[in-house]
Amino acid sequence: MAKRDYYEILGVSKSATDPEIKKAYRKLSKQFHPDINKAADADAKFKEITEAYEVLSDGNKRAAYDQYGHASTDPNFGNSGGGFGGGFGGGGFNGGGFEDIFESFFGGGGRTANPNAPRQGEDLQYRMDLEFEEAIFGKETTIQYNREAECKTCHGDGAKPGSHPVTCSKCQGSGTLNVARNTPLGRVMTRQTCDVCQGTGKEIKEKCPTCYGSGRIKERHSVKVTVPAGVEDGNQMRLNGQGEAGKNGGPYGDLYVVFRVKSSDLFDRDGAEIYYELPISFIQAALGDEIEVPTVHGKIKLKIPAGTQTGTNFRLKSKGAPRLRGAGSGDQHVKIKLITPKDLSSEQKRILRDYAKESGIEVTEQDESTFGKLKDVFKKR
Ligand code: ZN
Ligand code: ZN
Repeated sequence: MAKRDYYEILGVSKSATDPEIKKAYRKLSKQFHPDINKAADADAKFKEITEAYEVLSDGNKRAAYDQYGHASTDPNFGNSGGGFGGGFGGGGFNGGGFEDIFESFFGGGGRTANPNAPRQGEDLQYRMDLEFEEAIFGKETTIQYNREAECKTCHGDGAKPGSHPVTCSKCQGSGTLNVARNTPLGRVMTRQTCDVCQGTGKEIKEKCPTCYGSGRIKERHSVKVTVPAGVEDGNQMRLNGQGEAGKNGGPYGDLYVVFRVKSSDLFDRDGAEIYYELPISFIQAALGDEIEVPTVHGKIKLKIPAGTQTGTNFRLKSKGAPRLRGAGSGDQHVKIKLITPKDLSSEQKRILRDYAKESGIEVTEQDESTFGKLKDVFKKR
């Protein structure tokens, strides 16, 4: 299967800066983290994003990828005839160039990150469904989700209480090993992750019995969330330190709560403004009336003046949603919709005919079924 372009996966341009790449990665990894995103392909997506980031966030690997594409990340690339032929075939490299290339692939220079540096944990995302009214008035709730937390027995260092991790004897704490490899062009030095400490630079002689040395445990975590009044569909809220545990004593990542607001059968909402359509009879519109109108704050009496036309808008001040930023609330807008009466009794018809006569209106009455019959005539032809 053809692999997708790493830049395309992260949605960045070929000239993206390191911070842009990091930002894109953080955003996507939050979105597709398998703990949060339960879609069937989330796991595969997450792996794809991580792989793209691992290459593009490393200056050397990125340079190699820009030059040779996916061949540059193939583990067979360079140490077997096949990998070589595939990657370089006819590429026109002149003698002496290969070692430079290997250097650039495996990071010959001083760019190695300290494996013991504290790193912040991953951010997580939680999707919260809200009823229409809950988004307007806010609510307090407790959410639960799975996350990687620091092991409480060893406080994250992975060693049995009373013991301590020691500097790795194989790599002397650097986390990497220099290995000589044979290639068709001779021996070259490459750098590999230390197999004893897995790149951490530390060796744990006596492992913590709770986390078996990883320093982290999966936990079901609960957080109290205060949903602010006035949130809208798609708004998100950051909860500091409620993401996953950091590494080497680094801080926890953050949790992003994303709100999904259900729609209402009665109302439409746009920001703090709420819209409602009020059906009334032409008699109420003609004579005027006082009508109870539902709002999210309860029922309100609305006076309709005599002679109100269909489509007229009335405004109920401050009966909308609270403004999330800024003071006060929006309004509720009431739009009048005239309903024409149907299935009139003969007495009602008589009164309307009198009304028409009184108004000097000449009406050529049509039976309700007239149109039905007409349709039938057309069908038969
Ligand atoms: Zn532990
Ligand atoms: Zn080591």
